[in-house]
Amino acid sequence: MLSRPEALLSPHDDSPGDSRTGPRSAGEDAARTAAQPPVRISARGISKSYGTTAALRDVSLDVKTGEFLTLLGPSGSGKTTLLNIVAGFVRLDAGQLFFDDEDVTLKAVNRRGLGMVFQNYALFPHMTVGENVAFPLRVRKLGRQEVRRRVDSVLRLVKLEALAARNVSALSGGQRQRVALARAVVFSPRIVLMDEPLSALDKSLREEMQVEIRHLQKRIGATTMYVTHDQREAMTIGDRVAVMNEARLIQCGTPAEIYQRPQTAFVARFIGESTLLPVRPQGASLALVDGTPLRTEHPVPSGDELYLVLRAERMLLPAECTEKTNRLAIVLRDVIYQGDSLLIIGEAAGGMQVSLRRQLRHGMIGGLPASGETLRVGIDPDSAIIVGP
Ligand code: ADP
Ligand code: MG
Repeated sequence: MLSRPEALLSPHDDSPGDSRTGPRSAGEDAARTAAQPPVRISARGISKSYGTTAALRDVSLDVKTGEFLTLLGPSGSGKTTLLNIVAGFVRLDAGQLFFDDEDVTLKAVNRRGLGMVFQNYALFPHMTVGENVAFPLRVRKLGRQEVRRRVDSVLRLVKLEALAARNVSALSGGQRQRVALARAVVFSPRIVLMDEPLSALDKSLREEMQVEIRHLQKRIGATTMYVTHDQREAMTIGDRVAVMNEARLIQCGTPAEIYQRPQTAFVARFIGESTLLPVRPQGASLALVDGTPLRTEHPVPSGDELYLVLRAERMLLPAECTEKTNRLAIVLRDVIYQGDSLLIIGEAAGGMQVSLRRQLRHGMIGGLPASGETLRVGIDPDSAIIVGP
């Protein structure tokens, strides 16, 4: 396998399918680096195994033209493998990959028109910020003035114009990641791929960079795939989120759809602060395992294994319940003050831990019972989401 930055930055067209010969004209080079319109990425039934380990099982996914899609899932779920297949670093065992209507399954990495950003920056340590960012343009043999113009413009975009002459080894982590971003987008790629680019940064810098990357992507307009295992980051940054688990794509939707309409127990657990209580059909309706009838305004999936999704912020205190509210007795275990909110933790029948979170706008919530006492909390039918396994 080629070392990644070299493969991406190589000026050579070494694709076996390339019929062109002889030196390329200057006009052709300029055309290669002119802003290319973004494309739709379509994965069709992609599978990949390493020995007996399945990294991807029959994954089909569309990333719309100009869209920012985040791939979210626990470690080992296949996110990097999918990104590497889109990049061309990894050959798939089955399936096809399209950019718009072009089948690119066998297309060489350096002919795919990609910018990539990795966790470990992969910058050239002996070069300045400006030289690092100029590199992809130099290997494409752009003229000096054009290189200068583009580097200046992209450094302004990532707020590094004042540091162009500094050596990258003298930069902070956040600054280095900005250089890596600038270098990935300076040649106006039609696709940008990022694999956990912020995971080496501390929390506050990470949050700041999430918003910046989102703005940058909207400015440049390239179709973008971004890998993360952090659900909040995935929702903050992406137009849509594709949730992966155990080599499969589980659900893809807007952050609101993923959060409000999880389709499986895995997605409901992985996103948000939630507890899943088993429920069972009772005649035409549903009941909790202790027989308490359950009203929901949401569709109920087919099958016998069903769960009620309890989100901490949707749970109601007794005083907030009406006669329509589903009620659930919990034994109070802990009340935790977290500054902006209060986290109330209890135990339902069967030992399931149920959390209830309340934003604190006017000081503490009064009238809570002591630890060990029973509290009849509630969930309204319009918040009662039911998922299959
Ligand atoms: P993620 O990025 O979601 O953490 P990966 O795509 O890196 O997941 O890995 C998916 C699965 O494939 C894991 O079980 C991983 O161990 C395996 N895997 C990935 N790359 C290789 C490789 N080069 N050789 C062997 N196994 C691999
Ligand atoms: Mg990974």
